[in-house]
Amino acid sequence: MSAKDINRMQDPRQEFHREGYEKQQQEAPGLQSEMKPVPDAGEESYQGCGKLRGRKALVTGGDSGIGRAAAIAYAREGADVALNYLPEEQSDAEEVAELVRKAGRNAVLLPGDLSDESFCKQLIRDALEKLGGLDILALVAGKQVAVEDIQDITTEQLTKTFEVNVFSLFWIAKAALPHLKPGASIITCSSIQAYQPGKNLIDYASTKAAIIAFSRALAKQVASKGIRVNVVAPGPVWTPLQVTGGQLQEDLPEFGQKTPLKRAGQPVELSGLYVFLASQESSFITAEVFGVTGGMHLS
Ligand code: NAD
Ligand code: MG
Repeated sequence: MSAKDINRMQDPRQEFHREGYEKQQQEAPGLQSEMKPVPDAGEESYQGCGKLRGRKALVTGGDSGIGRAAAIAYAREGADVALNYLPEEQSDAEEVAELVRKAGRNAVLLPGDLSDESFCKQLIRDALEKLGGLDILALVAGKQVAVEDIQDITTEQLTKTFEVNVFSLFWIAKAALPHLKPGASIITCSSIQAYQPGKNLIDYASTKAAIIAFSRALAKQVASKGIRVNVVAPGPVWTPLQVTGGQLQEDLPEFGQKTPLKRAGQPVELSGLYVFLASQESSFITAEVFGVTGGMHLS
């Protein structure tokens, strides 16, 4: 089934890649372009219709996977897009920037490490200056390292995972909020792991639960400013995160096969939700969590 057929009604079990995946390993953060198969982030298929015309969006983790799908969709809906990613991911980020420019929008590349508070502050300063404002924060970046035994989770890994997944949200929100206007939207990225934590992801699952509490509390605090905050909680989605230590190698062939739809998702299957939550269509929705799980549901 071609990705170009995405707007035609079809059986969700038959769409995209249905089989398992071959074992493959890259060093984190990895490159989407080197994955087999390359994930589908809507490069060929996403069609916009002006839902975000004139908005300014920052997407962290915007080089690959779910963030890339959001960035492409935002640009095709009419938004200028700043991308944050790690310097090693420059080639993936340049592909996205090219697609943003092809959509006729401004692309700003802002590489740097979100585990560093001073970088997070600088990121917001640069995004504000280079985009000329900020209306959408899609905070998608995340770190996930599967470890079988808690004894082998180093304090270094624990700290980094919390810094990237949780602390950066505080630092970015603190820096950005004084500049956000009523109508702005913040979208964080949790996981099915917050609800059904896997035994090999103790630290990661803990951060993903913390993101939900953070986002709901922030949503209540900033509702008085007309700013909304919502959470996307994906199930298994084929992205670099999974082939850079996010899953144990032995689990890759079966990745996603246990969902009721019996396959992993592709990043493009989150594009519409990211647009919806950023746009005025979701004007009465805040402090909410949205599962995109192939049927594993959040509970
Ligand atoms: P991905 O590898 O494409 O994206 C993760 C991104 O995080 C990387 O591209 C990288 O740019 C960024 N990142 C990591 N460490 C960073 C750091 N120190 N500084 C700056 N950026 C950093 O994989 P993805 O699956 O698209 O991940 C996006 C989000 O989705 C993550 O928050 C992840 O936890 C979440 N998620 C993914 C799945 C899944 O199955 N893929 C499931 C649930 C939740
Ligand atoms: Mg990446």
